[in-house]
Amino acid sequence: MAVRVLAESLLGYTDTPMLPSGKWHVHDPNRPKPAIVTPGERFSQGAPAPADAIVLFDGKDLSQWEGVHGPPQWNVHDGILEAKVHSGDIHTKETFGDCQIHVEFAEPGKDAPGDGNSGVFLQGIYELQIFDNEATTIYADGQCGALYGQSPCLVNACKKPGEWQSFDIAFEPARWNENHQLARPAMITVFQNGILIHYHQPLLGPTGHRILGKYTTELPATGPLELQEHGDPVRFRNIWIRRIHEEEKP
Ligand code: MG
Repeated sequence: MAVRVLAESLLGYTDTPMLPSGKWHVHDPNRPKPAIVTPGERFSQGAPAPADAIVLFDGKDLSQWEGVHGPPQWNVHDGILEAKVHSGDIHTKETFGDCQIHVEFAEPGKDAPGDGNSGVFLQGIYELQIFDNEATTIYADGQCGALYGQSPCLVNACKKPGEWQSFDIAFEPARWNENHQLARPAMITVFQNGILIHYHQPLLGPTGHRILGKYTTELPATGPLELQEHGDPVRFRNIWIRRIHEEEKP
């Protein structure tokens, strides 16, 4: 899991491992930031979940979730799920393999000082970062929408702090062969606010802070969807997931 970045080190690190490209360190302050692309006004926010989706949060309760330290403590009010500071991450009771995920989120912005740090953890181990890029300057692989510590976004498709945003994610867990060796890394495609920010991007391994993600042991075929509590009251709504079954692929 990513740990809190100290204020004095927000601009990045050069004493971290090199990424496989050989060009940049993990959290490299010199890595170029993605170009800003302003989202269009119309995209699929607030739309009802598809008929075959599992609705994980519909504005009412946390019946689909549990906390990492026991019952989930996050606040539900006005149809919104809000991270409760210092209460820990929450994750789904169910686990998922190949899946499509829709999550809407909003940075607290002026409502709370801080970085607006949270995250969506696929399988509970790979972080798709949520962050307030305007409140805090951070290295490219730590910006909102980055695959934390691994891959910056193709473009910066963020909306303003306080505005509702969406992630639409297609995720495939890593595959392992009969000898328990990695056959194929986990893969992820992400649209933020209707704009492609990761395109069938391999994940280097589970997310970490100041380390190079790598696969060191065979991972389970499924895992929960996890939302990060990182000291900021980031808000969520309209969260759903669709299972993608191998037998349905052509
Ligand atoms: Mg985070």
